[in-house]
Amino acid sequence: MKHIRSKDNFLVFGAPLIEQDEINEVIACLKSGWIGTGRRVRDFEIAFSKYKNVENAVAVNSCTAALHLSLLVANIGAGDEVITTPLTFCATINAILHAGAKPVLADIDKKTMNIDPNEIEKKITNKTKAILPVHFAGRPCDMDAISWIAQKHNLLIIEDCAHAIEAEYKNQKIGTFGNFSCFSFYATKNIVTGEGGMVLAKSKEDLDRIKIYALHGMSKDAWSRYGDKGYKHYKVIECGYKYNMMDLQAAIGIHQIKKINKYWNKRKHIWNRYNNELKELPIELPYDTTKYERHAYHLYTILVKNEFAGINRDEFINHMTDNGIGIGVHYLSIPEHPYYQKKMGWKASDYPNALNIGRSTVSLPLSAKLTDDDVADVVVAVKAALNT
Ligand SMILES: *Cc1c(COP(=O)(O)O)cnc(C)c1O
Repeated sequence: MKHIRSKDNFLVFGAPLIEQDEINEVIACLKSGWIGTGRRVRDFEIAFSKYKNVENAVAVNSCTAALHLSLLVANIGAGDEVITTPLTFCATINAILHAGAKPVLADIDKKTMNIDPNEIEKKITNKTKAILPVHFAGRPCDMDAISWIAQKHNLLIIEDCAHAIEAEYKNQKIGTFGNFSCFSFYATKNIVTGEGGMVLAKSKEDLDRIKIYALHGMSKDAWSRYGDKGYKHYKVIECGYKYNMMDLQAAIGIHQIKKINKYWNKRKHIWNRYNNELKELPIELPYDTTKYERHAYHLYTILVKNEFAGINRDEFINHMTDNGIGIGVHYLSIPEHPYYQKKMGWKASDYPNALNIGRSTVSLPLSAKLTDDDVADVVVAVKAALNT
């Protein structure tokens, strides 16, 4: 059988688009003698705050670190509960556990795949301290309902915006609803720094504390202790972490963020092509966005169900891989993982919407790096896998 793409032409899922500007900047950074945290990180924070229309932002080395520090600075820890979604990356849950708190899952809405506000309300106890919504695939959560619940029960909101840098809800930028919000620049995300994250906080005081916690708990001046202004003494004022971003990473980020709209438009174009070219097939395509939402187009997730497609999800994945197309799975629902079953006593069947989606979902390539021919190959491979 002839493969659509050969092994040496394998389409890597989530490969980022890296252009000459980023490469030149990384080289300049390497040659500058300053690869650690410095001016380029500060420039990236400023560019990011401008993009979000906020006063300030703190760059860290991952979204996981951003989530962990947000929870700590929110004083969430032992004895506290945080309500989040079962359809997310494990880092969302692990960050809550690292903070010493108890994650509590509220099932998703099966159309939007985002946490269902009605399910959140059912899970609130007198120990609940925060809601941690994830804007899944880049689609904003129902922030009116979530904000209303948070206000009514006096809860904090910590947004996991790892998929959703460009998303907006009712013309308000995602990441400006919560008390804290966390972003990722991991290699497969909408814009990348290799590894990297960013935190926004409503309160300036909270954001200052995050900055201190991100670098060993050293007083603010420590960030510039080796700068050209002479050595600065620092004081350790908290037991902090090693979560700072390096200039080497920010060198990529300061150019990526300039191209954020260009890349978004490219992914939107691919998204619309998939919508048009796959619509007759016996699979489910992403639910349409409403006029209230600006989708960040991070993941194009289809549902492959045996009863319609004639093959199950994992058989579909094998067909795609054989044809040289890398796909992703976002995600097997959190309670399906053995660690959480053991640690939390969770049963996957208690979260049926997340369970069903987790067992039938496949993410097709949606990177700004894809050419029109790449997208055509994906479409041909999907059709071949489904025998249509
Ligand atoms: C990628 C991701 C994270 C973790 O981001 P890192 O920057 O890799 O730590 C957290 N939450 C979600 C939903 C993600 O997709």
